[in-house]
Amino acid sequence: MNRFSLEGRKALVTGANAGIGQAIAVGLARAGAHVTCAGRRGCGETLEMIGGGDELLLDFADPMAARDTFTGAGYDILVNNAGIIRRADAVDFTEADWDDVIDVNLKALFFTCQSFAKAALAESRPAKIINIASLLSFQGGIRVPSYTASKHGVAGLTKLMANEWAAKGVNVNAIAPGYIETANTEALRADTERNQAILERIPAGRWGQPEDIADTAVFLAAPASDYLHGAVINVDGGWLAR
Ligand code: NAP
Repeated sequence: MNRFSLEGRKALVTGANAGIGQAIAVGLARAGAHVTCAGRRGCGETLEMIGGGDELLLDFADPMAARDTFTGAGYDILVNNAGIIRRADAVDFTEADWDDVIDVNLKALFFTCQSFAKAALAESRPAKIINIASLLSFQGGIRVPSYTASKHGVAGLTKLMANEWAAKGVNVNAIAPGYIETANTEALRADTERNQAILERIPAGRWGQPEDIADTAVFLAAPASDYLHGAVINVDGGWLAR
């Protein structure tokens, strides 16, 4: 048996229309999984890249949006990738920017995990949850208070859920991406000085690609990682090692 194969598995990836989520959806499909691409808008481009799969509209502005998604649907793998960021000085940060980010990045992530795990546990089906954390699960960042709070929360919840579900066959782990080339980081790369400073700080000397994250996600979704529980894996070109 190939312990890195996802043949016969059914996966759902949130925020799969672009960036890291799109690469993860494609990576899981290449490894053999049937992938449902979930997002607040269509995932046509991703489905084309995969050459199959399903699409599901889920808007996590309602953090309970996935409450009815998993019961009886037979999912083995859940990737919580959808996320947003708001930037402002801490002294000026608004309640709306706090609530919006916490709702999508943290509250929706928890209740989507809960709904997925409930279905898997009820059917005694082994399952894998992969949460997308951040360097700001470990560092403070600057001008992004709700993002930092949400991503620290993602790391904590990943461990909590692993503690509760590991013995029941549900693996919960997270990936903390470093600086990855997506629409999310376009402004940083466009700022020559900031880009240079970031590159100098990354031991690998390059930005990460969404595929770097996808490959780790395939590992965390596959039988090869069956003994991994509650880990937050940095895929950051060495940033946190420095
Ligand atoms: P992105 O291209 O902006 O992707 C974010 C995804 O989340 C998009 O598909 C987006 O959909 C979706 N999303 C946002 N709000 C949503 C909502 N209310 N309901 C459903 N889906 C929603 O950025 P990315 O860089 O690929 O980020 C993906 C994840 O990686 C995020 O959790 C982010 O925090 C994390 N991350 C990224 C980096 C990086 O360097 N890029 C580093 C660390 C962590 P729309 O296209 O409709 O907005």
